[in-house]
Amino acid sequence: MCAGCPAARGGEWIPRGFDGPGTLPAETSGKAATCCYRRGVKALVKSRREPGLWLEEIDPPRIGINDVLIRVLRTGICGTDVHIYKWDEWAQKTIPVPMAIGHEFVGRIVETGSNVADFFPGDIVSGEGHVVCGRCRNCLAGRRHLCAHTLGVGVNRPGAFAEYIALPMTNLWRHHESVALDVAAIFDPFGNAVHTALSFPVLGEDVLVTGAGPIGIMAAAVAVHAGARYTVITDINPYRLDLARKMKVTRAVDIRDSNLPKIQKELGMTEGFDVGLEMSGNPAAFRDMLANMSHGARIAMLGIPSGPMAIDWHTVIFNMLTIKGIYGREMYETWYKMTVMLQSGLDIEPVITHRFSYTEFEQGFAAMISGNSGKVVLNWES
Ligand code: NAD
Ligand code: ZN
Repeated sequence: MCAGCPAARGGEWIPRGFDGPGTLPAETSGKAATCCYRRGVKALVKSRREPGLWLEEIDPPRIGINDVLIRVLRTGICGTDVHIYKWDEWAQKTIPVPMAIGHEFVGRIVETGSNVADFFPGDIVSGEGHVVCGRCRNCLAGRRHLCAHTLGVGVNRPGAFAEYIALPMTNLWRHHESVALDVAAIFDPFGNAVHTALSFPVLGEDVLVTGAGPIGIMAAAVAVHAGARYTVITDINPYRLDLARKMKVTRAVDIRDSNLPKIQKELGMTEGFDVGLEMSGNPAAFRDMLANMSHGARIAMLGIPSGPMAIDWHTVIFNMLTIKGIYGREMYETWYKMTVMLQSGLDIEPVITHRFSYTEFEQGFAAMISGNSGKVVLNWES
């Protein structure tokens, strides 16, 4: 076996065409990539154009000179993955079949391309789920989150629900050693929450979050951490509202039993909420938000409505509201902020309610679909 050959370390690497020390052909000696090969990689694959997901073996991903190969350790299940699992209209027109899906992950680098100078085998990293073109006006100006040609990991290109994933080095975030693996696995949706919650200043402001899904709950926790006076979150799901209460929000409101004017009154608010974070994608929730904002209030919108939605534009105009659409995370300012907020006491771990082995993925998806869950994390080590 050649010096430094990964096959010597066993595991997934298998020596190719020789049976022991000294028998490797001279021309391949020392070239790890050519003297051994990796067995098929287990992955959750959308392999049929129908509802479901299948645990299969796929070809090991290959890396180019600017890429890294990552051994995936934990993954988070996202609402997007549920859309793909259910094979809804959006999934049918978007997802190539067959393809491994998933984009929320943390893993350990096992191999780097020859051009990669600042990431190393052993580094614990997550991948930014948006692969940008690098050449459009926004990319060139450093505004990569506004790239006009973004490709989604696990949506438009092979995903992270696999033992291995290859990604460009420009898509990596190296984790601080203080970040727990399960938390690192959900940096992608945590980043959605941070990007949205910090879109407008919240210090001393009254913040309304509509939708206590995992992202809404994390956004509310960020608003609390960042010094909002009151943080009110709404939902229609008691399990999730209870989860939100664990994050020390001012009020977690079941909108079926109460209403926002009443909550404002209870809190002694007179002019409406200053900052709105729309995290439900529900038109009724958004309309409710618009009706309860102060004049000049600012709204960051992450929730994705399932179709066009009508709102009262008079309220937007006469109350001089600002509405900002949010997609993904800022590269990599949001990632930096996530890390330092964790280091300064923000705890998002309670939002992880279920943990399974990747082989139990059906149970993970069932927990997500039930609505009685926060984040669901799959372990790819066992
Ligand atoms: P989720 O679907 O788990 O949560 C949405 C929550 O809204 C649910 O708990 C639901 O009960 C609640 N809801 C429904 N009707 C409501 C109402 N009338 N009032 C208040 N709450 C109501 O989603 P998530 O994973 O937390 O993500 C939040 C939203 O952000 C989703 O719409 C998702 O599609 C979207 N998203 C957007 C981006 C982006 O980059 N823009 C990225 C990820 C997710
Ligand atoms: Zn671009």
